[in-house]
Amino acid sequence: MIILATNNKGKAKEIKEILKNEDIKTLKEMNINIEIEETGETFEDNALIKARKIYSLTNTACIADDSGICIEELDGFPGVKTARFLGENATQEDRNNYLIKRLEGIPKAKRTVQFITCIAYIDSQGNEKIYNGILNGYIAEAPRGNNGFGFDEIFELEDGRTLAELETEEKNNITSRKIALKKLEQDINK
Ligand code: IMP
Repeated sequence: MIILATNNKGKAKEIKEILKNEDIKTLKEMNINIEIEETGETFEDNALIKARKIYSLTNTACIADDSGICIEELDGFPGVKTARFLGENATQEDRNNYLIKRLEGIPKAKRTVQFITCIAYIDSQGNEKIYNGILNGYIAEAPRGNNGFGFDEIFELEDGRTLAELETEEKNNITSRKIALKKLEQDINK
């Protein structure tokens, strides 16, 4: 059994699908009710903080992830603060519009952004492993598409489509989360 340190239903579904040979249990399924603060300075720190907390409570193998976007022109902003860089009360629309405004007038070549996912895995013996996934793109000049969440509407691929303009299956196959999870899957099945 592997415990998944997330309360996010969408993520749990995606991770269970990719690691379909494993017996994955969410925190909810384990009756663990906990909010773990992401106080780290990197995606790796945050993923490890979450995984270590759950391991310390359960002594069972566990997985935790942390993701965000890093805009090159803004020196990597918003990075680990991706989910909350405008405070707790801002909406996703506010965050998307803010980033577009910050890049106003900047040509496509300088609008590069990386979607980064870091996954921390602790096995039943307590051994820690880290897996990273990166998806490269550009911040769009305006939001486009309605099939997605988070930054999908403003994350443009090389071919000009935003992540919110892809079919769900196509998107889930190229995300940084998928890349990191595939590495984890290969390692677990070795
Ligand atoms: P988390 O670390 O996965 O909770 O995500 C951090 C931030 O990135 C949140 O604001 C999410 O809305 C956003 N995010 C995570 N995954 C995706 C995605 O696949 N597309 C767009 N935004 C995402």
